[in-house]
Amino acid sequence: MRQPDEELAALELASLRRRLPENAPSLVNFCSNDYLGLAKHSAVVSAYQHAVGEYGAGSTASRLVCGSLAPHRELEQFIAEAKGTEAALTFSTGYATSVGVLSALLQKGDTVILDKLCHASLIDGARLSGAKIRVFPHNHLEKLEHLLARCSAQAQADSRLLVVTESIFSMDGDRAPLQEIAALTKQYRSLLLVDEAHALGVLGKSGMGLAEELGLCGEIDFHMGTLGKAGGVAGGYLAASRSWIDLLINRSRSFIYSTAPPPAQAAASLAALQIISSEEGAQLREKLWSNIRHFEQQVPQVSPATSSILPLMVGEAERALELSQQLRDSGFLVPAIRYPTVPRNTARLRFTLSAAHTTQEIDSVTHHPCFTPLTG
Ligand SMILES: *Cc1c(COP(=O)(O)O)cnc(C)c1O
Repeated sequence: MRQPDEELAALELASLRRRLPENAPSLVNFCSNDYLGLAKHSAVVSAYQHAVGEYGAGSTASRLVCGSLAPHRELEQFIAEAKGTEAALTFSTGYATSVGVLSALLQKGDTVILDKLCHASLIDGARLSGAKIRVFPHNHLEKLEHLLARCSAQAQADSRLLVVTESIFSMDGDRAPLQEIAALTKQYRSLLLVDEAHALGVLGKSGMGLAEELGLCGEIDFHMGTLGKAGGVAGGYLAASRSWIDLLINRSRSFIYSTAPPPAQAAASLAALQIISSEEGAQLREKLWSNIRHFEQQVPQVSPATSSILPLMVGEAERALELSQQLRDSGFLVPAIRYPTVPRNTARLRFTLSAAHTTQEIDSVTHHPCFTPLTG
């Protein structure tokens, strides 16, 4: 039988062993997804505390049993309105959303076409569904069209064809050509799911993401996202038309067979979304984008930055780990991202910026001597 220690030794040898990092509060954090600083926002924290007082710590059962409480419904109503859909459904996490949604929407005989860099949770959901999986090279529209043409020609009359992309990609920080993808899915009568995990709070007039920024909300069948990143709390959502949401309530196993998220999580998420879509949210986005622009002025390799994720390419996993450690020794938390999260030999330091960073914090990390060989 394979022993765990042997597997761990092999990972160690390849500089691919992972350990839980200690996030000492004294470190300046450049890896949080809390892009607007809402995790510690007083209105979000007090919504959490208030809901704990009113509803208790937990939801006590699955949503379909007796766990569906007012905060869940209010959150879903807000999301549906903000996304311009008839309905929305929330899950415990974004991961549970991906897995639960894709495996419920698709079955054997259906086809799902994913961007090569789609998040692990989307791939897992696609695999679990039993549908045929096709992958197009990252943001490659011609290859996507080629697959759509072939798959739609082969499709049975009642089978589903679904294209899945992120709007901002989590490890590269670049954007999907959403307009073109939406046009192609329309042309080939395919469904479209867009995961806005890293765009919620960051893009769009009311912070709803890239679809809002591009005026494409009406072109997307399934709006997905997480409340654990710019939302600052936890949870995932899917916004869609009423029938799709009703189908998910009936078929999505990560929704049905799991205790509902704590009502306080939903209440705090709602408070966060209210801030994101308010004037205060717009000001936080402005601060975030001015931080992003400032960072890329100091480190032109990450330019042009199109999101709050700024990867600085290193190459070898070992080198990326060394740099991350040097930064840590100087008081900065910057993760080395390695295979299998990203392809082999594309290890990188992945900076994420927040509206809560000060200009001084950005200056001090970007002037760290370890960057001199990388940034010249
Ligand atoms: C983070 C992420 C998820 C998972 O969301 P969680 O709430 O952290 O479970 C799903 N999709 C994408 C693209 C993500 O970046």
